[in-house]
Amino acid sequence: MPKGAVHITVERCKGCSICVEFCPTHVLALSNAFNAKGYHPPYVANAEKCSGCDLCGMYCPDFAIYGFKNAPAAPKEAPKQ
Ligand code: SF4
Ligand code: SF4
Repeated sequence: MPKGAVHITVERCKGCSICVEFCPTHVLALSNAFNAKGYHPPYVANAEKCSGCDLCGMYCPDFAIYGFKNAPAAPKEAPKQ
């Protein structure tokens, strides 16, 4: 399971590509699809590489994306004796 994930609000995006360029692990790419404003929003191309660092969210000028950490996996229960 990846350490983090992103939420993208496609309709807020203006396709500037800042999030794509600044993601340190190259999680994002710009879609070929258009949003209602006529821009290409990002999509998650490499979900397993996301650390949830939220750099994409800090750089996005339109508050159209943010990253978050996934909850750590619950420890496995010790077998009952
Ligand atoms: S949260 Fe971090 S690792 Fe995940 S897409 Fe955003 S910048 Fe990349
Ligand atoms: S930084 Fe924001 S506005 Fe620019 S492409 Fe990414 S989500 Fe869209």
